[in-house]
Amino acid sequence: MKAHIAVLPGDGIGPEVTAEAVRALRALEKRHGHIFTLTELPFGGAAIDLTGNPLPEPTLEACRNADAVLLGAIGGPKWSAPEAKVRPEQGLLELRRALRVYANLRPVKVHPALLGASSLKSEVLQGTDLIFVRELTGGIYFGEKRREADCATDVCTYTVAEIERIVRAAARLAQKRRRKLVSIDKANVLETSRLWRQVTSRVMREEFPEVALEHMLVDSAAMHLIRRPRDFDVLVTENMFGDILTDEASMLAGSLGLLPSASLGEGTRGLYEPIHGSAPDIAGRGIANPYGMLLSAALLLRHSLGLTAEAAALEAAVSDAIGAGALTPDVAGATGAVSTREAAEAVLARL
Ligand code: NAD
Repeated sequence: MKAHIAVLPGDGIGPEVTAEAVRALRALEKRHGHIFTLTELPFGGAAIDLTGNPLPEPTLEACRNADAVLLGAIGGPKWSAPEAKVRPEQGLLELRRALRVYANLRPVKVHPALLGASSLKSEVLQGTDLIFVRELTGGIYFGEKRREADCATDVCTYTVAEIERIVRAAARLAQKRRRKLVSIDKANVLETSRLWRQVTSRVMREEFPEVALEHMLVDSAAMHLIRRPRDFDVLVTENMFGDILTDEASMLAGSLGLLPSASLGEGTRGLYEPIHGSAPDIAGRGIANPYGMLLSAALLLRHSLGLTAEAAALEAAVSDAIGAGALTPDVAGATGAVSTREAAEAVLARL
């Protein structure tokens, strides 16, 4: 098949891990006879340095015209001064909004070889296989922001239509998995959460009666996630709760560097990125974990290009490489660590 992929390496470790995902895509392209056109474009802090804009028009245009967008990570201290008017993160929010990718999928699976890498006990973690569906283009991150001399305001808004479409996306996933959906809100305090709960109950009752629905308060969910992670299958929640809980859930797997994400809208075009940031503390040292990025490329193959076998092959190669001990310092422990390139090589060798 022929596909156009916009590649946005970004900042910090972004370019380091993106380069490895591009190599894996090239290997799969060759092996399976596809033609992937990969176009690299400036984004985030790198784009601010070049053009003053974190999402320059040509980058946005190329993303709009692509079948999928592969993104490394953006941000860093250089662009984070409190008085900065232009920030890399603005480009990311704008890109998500422009591509209308409202459903952020974040799978968390604990690899048996990494049970020891997590700060939780192995017996709690064993068998954990869950997926978060986070609403990505609404809520407090996108609401009106005001700042006065002695007060600041962020407005949180959700519409019925926004809740319906994210709940449907999560329920469709649950249908293909263990048919369990946990919806997370703060309905005892927030009006947006009360609407969320009401709409979720109706959509599930009317359209997905075979999927078991449980409502959970966000504070309680934060606790249950680390107490009994195995019990969860699909979790759906709003933007900010999802942002925080998915970082917590990443610790089940052992490192932020292991986890991929897919951001999807109505069509097949999607935005794929590891869940970690630009990790300025380790950037430029060749030690970033490339697996979250490689698994994001696998999600791209599956969800945007429909290449299920290629996606599964890449996921299996990553899993085998982890099993064989090709581990970067964030998860290696006492066994000795490999570099970003060596970890990615271990995957390529298995493809
Ligand atoms: P971070 O995810 O960049 O790093 C948190 C910690 O995890 C660091 O110790 C880092 O070294 C480690 N880490 C992250 N990814 C890793 C990997 N692949 N391999 C090994 N270790 C890894 O979060 P932060 O430090 O809070 O943020 C740094 C910058 O990234 C900030 O400017 C922030 O705004 C930005 N950020 C961007 C995104 C994105 O691009 N989507 C997401 C989160 C944060």
